[in-house]
Amino acid sequence: MFSVWGQTTALLVSIALGSLAFWLLVGLWAALLLFAVLLLCVLLYHIAKLVALQKWLSHPLRETLPDGLWLWEIVYSQLARMLRLQGQSEARLSAALDRFQQVGAAVPEGMVILDEFDRIEWCNPIAERHFGIEGQRDQGHHITNLVRHPEFVEYLKLQNYGEPLTLKSSRDTVEIVLSVHLIPYGDKQKLVSSRDITRWELIETMRKDFIANVSHELRTPITVIAGFLETLADLPKSDPDLTRRSIHLMREQATRMHRLVEDLLTLSKLEHTEKPNFDKQIAVAELLRSLYQEAIALSKDKHRIELQLDTEDNVFGNEDEVRSAFANLISNGIRYTPKDGLIKLCWKRTVEGAAFSVQDTGIGIEQQYIPRLTERFYRVDRSRSRETGGTGLGLAIVKHALNRHQAKLEIVSTPGEGSVFSAIFPARRLVKALAPRATEKAS
Ligand code: ADP
Repeated sequence: MFSVWGQTTALLVSIALGSLAFWLLVGLWAALLLFAVLLLCVLLYHIAKLVALQKWLSHPLRETLPDGLWLWEIVYSQLARMLRLQGQSEARLSAALDRFQQVGAAVPEGMVILDEFDRIEWCNPIAERHFGIEGQRDQGHHITNLVRHPEFVEYLKLQNYGEPLTLKSSRDTVEIVLSVHLIPYGDKQKLVSSRDITRWELIETMRKDFIANVSHELRTPITVIAGFLETLADLPKSDPDLTRRSIHLMREQATRMHRLVEDLLTLSKLEHTEKPNFDKQIAVAELLRSLYQEAIALSKDKHRIELQLDTEDNVFGNEDEVRSAFANLISNGIRYTPKDGLIKLCWKRTVEGAAFSVQDTGIGIEQQYIPRLTERFYRVDRSRSRETGGTGLGLAIVKHALNRHQAKLEIVSTPGEGSVFSAIFPARRLVKALAPRATEKAS
């Protein structure tokens, strides 16, 4: 392709040669006139093309790029090439931006980019949720106008980049705890990262409460034992009667501590061992017959106890864990039912699978306490629980053991009338066993 100068020179030379030929044929004036007219045509053509170019430049789209002859063809083809390259680099940039946005959205932490004046430049969806901001709408706004927690404002002001800030915030009436970290980067810019640590805070609170509860539970028996030992040691001469009574009371306290430690170990085992072996079958009827005998012994003939086996289903899982859950439910039934009350143990089919239930005619529980019964050390009536040797961990053990078998605990109770505690196993945990049906009673 000819260059711009080459084309222009060729055009002017052609006009000049044409006019020269015209001079020889027609005469000087006619040739001069032709020369002037041709030059004017060229000039008008360029002006028209310049106007078209100027118009196009106000909306420079590739599809509307005008076309032209001679040097304009060169100019437009170069412009088209420039637009193509620009389009390619824009596409690359936008792909990189998309990738950045996708990474930002996938990061499990909140991220807010601030400029040197702490104005929001960008944030990811998690940060929007954590701080209640909106990336598009709040771009350019000062972050402290939107996140107004005084601790956060102070943290930003102090620019203490080493230490994260723990921030309690409420989103849609739900209280969340955030760990917020300020990270400087680039040219006076900052990244605010936020992590939801609500679960960890809850675990930490539970851990502290648990230690406080265990210490509290152990303090009383230890104080009692220490007191008796001191009294016995200070006795001027031996008093066999007092010694016998003291030993009896000390043994009671030691048993209480022993039970507590046993329950703590059971809980810890349930929490830390692998999930039960579901290849093993638990012979439920056999297990319940043995627990039934234990219940009779525990009740010391104070209650009527019935065992009803309505299904031959066995359960897949760990026998020790299921036994521990059932035994705790039975023991509670006996402990919270006054003398001559009835306790019914029943193993039957339900819509979901099968249920083991302990129905008693005991003191019952008010509705408002029921959701908290499986919390560790939660007791409705502290003194009754202690008097009957309760550790406050029984139902926590039941819940854990059942959870591990994908079973659930259902509690129905009426104060003054009695309760039904049911352990419901899903059908997939059951297997048919050929055991005879039975109904056993004891009073
Ligand atoms: P505890 O060792 O105190 O019995 P649990 O975890 O077994 O602890 O039970 C928690 C609380 O639930 C008990 O303190 C008691 O108030 C209540 N509870 C459990 N079972 C029964 C029941 N069958 N009847 C009435 N209250 C019960």
